[in-house]
Amino acid sequence: MLLDTRGLNRFIAFDPTNGTLCCEAGVLLSDILALVVPYGWFLPVTPGTQFITVGGAIANDVHGKNHHEAGTFGCHVRRFELLRSDGERLLCAADTNSDWFRATIGGLGLTGVILWAEIDLKSIHATAIEMETLRFSHLDEFFALSEVSDANFAYTAAWIDCLARGDHLGRGLFIRGNHAAAKAPRTSRIPKRWLSIVMDLPVSVLNRVSVRAFNSIHYRNQLRAISPSVVHYESFFYPLDGIRHWNRLYGPSGFLQYQCVVPHTVNHEAIYALLQRTAVAGVGSFFAVLKVFGDRLSPGLMSFPRPGVTLSLDFAFRGKQTLRLLNELDSIVVAAGGAVYPAKDARMSAVSFQCYFPQWETLGRFRDARFSSSFWRRVTQM
Ligand SMILES: Cc1cc2nc3c(=O)[nH]c(=O)nc-3n(C[C@H](O)[C@H](O)[C@H](O)COP(=O)(O)OP(=O)(O)OC[C@H]3O[C@@H](n4cnc5c(N)ncnc54)[C@H](O)[C@@H]3O)c2cc1C
Repeated sequence: MLLDTRGLNRFIAFDPTNGTLCCEAGVLLSDILALVVPYGWFLPVTPGTQFITVGGAIANDVHGKNHHEAGTFGCHVRRFELLRSDGERLLCAADTNSDWFRATIGGLGLTGVILWAEIDLKSIHATAIEMETLRFSHLDEFFALSEVSDANFAYTAAWIDCLARGDHLGRGLFIRGNHAAAKAPRTSRIPKRWLSIVMDLPVSVLNRVSVRAFNSIHYRNQLRAISPSVVHYESFFYPLDGIRHWNRLYGPSGFLQYQCVVPHTVNHEAIYALLQRTAVAGVGSFFAVLKVFGDRLSPGLMSFPRPGVTLSLDFAFRGKQTLRLLNELDSIVVAAGGAVYPAKDARMSAVSFQCYFPQWETLGRFRDARFSSSFWRRVTQM
């Protein structure tokens, strides 16, 4: 049986003076933004799509471009109510049923159904984001830019040309931004779903040749070393939301996402190794993103983000060839003491998962006996 939480879609309370919001767990982040932005408030943390629910944001303890400053979504949750399959209802907060609070944030939906949640919002002055795009020609430059930018910008992340090799390994475009000041010029929002991939394509249009061509053009299009611009928050945070069914670009076999985090080391060997392995495989990821996570720890027991560097890749699915490559990436991540993001996973092994999340057995103790998932069964049965 699958539980559909879309009926839990009502707002319960919004205080526009101090920016707290209480809503049912099926409310979408897009609905929250529509309500609170006109009052000068914003989501404290947002992932790369606004079409997810509050329950999903808590269950995967999602992160965004401001992790270095704000941590994860779970860091901004004051309390929520959890319904267990035996009918018991638990009010959970940092000081009330705190074990349940910790287990449910990042708890992969296994501890019960979150009915509603109260979160703290972030104060803003305008809908615009003042952003800068900076071209960098090598991975070392990314780390230097990240260090400088994280001190002055709320939001940072970089697009990487993951097919570049040799002297250009890890070249890309660094994006950084802040919410604009009150008198910023008005910007137009991207029309919701302005482009639609209307049918399933017979083959993936994202292949080695097209990704190489796209990456090269995208990288070289940035003519100046730094380009400043002022954009609507939707263009900044949610570019993919504008393309309905963007996943169809990968053709009938679809794609696999792979996001990992590895701890900092002086020479960033693991990130070099991951990019080198991907570049050599030549299967190029269209959406390759690199970001430095900050030190703020989440209250979530099983939270994926941790201090270090996160790399996110998408691969058109080519059967065993793709699975073999991802297993090789896993061994680099395991050796580095990192982790792979369960929210985006469809294939990690039980051995890898238990290395990434040694606390998994503790979550098992809080799991509702009548809740499970194919992910959980795969990663807990050796
Ligand atoms: C385009 C795109 C960009 C993304 N960018 C990011 C990103 O930048 N950062 C990031 O962290 N993630 C990102 N993600 C992943 C996404 O944010 C997470 O997978 C999120 O958890 C999805 O939430 P959902 O509401 O769609 O829930 P689902 O996908 O339906 O469920 C996700 C999990 O939440 C659980 N769950 C949902 N509702 C409840 C509830 N009421 N009570 C208990 N458990 C519940 C489910 O059981 C499941 O385990 C992205 C996804 C897409 C498609």
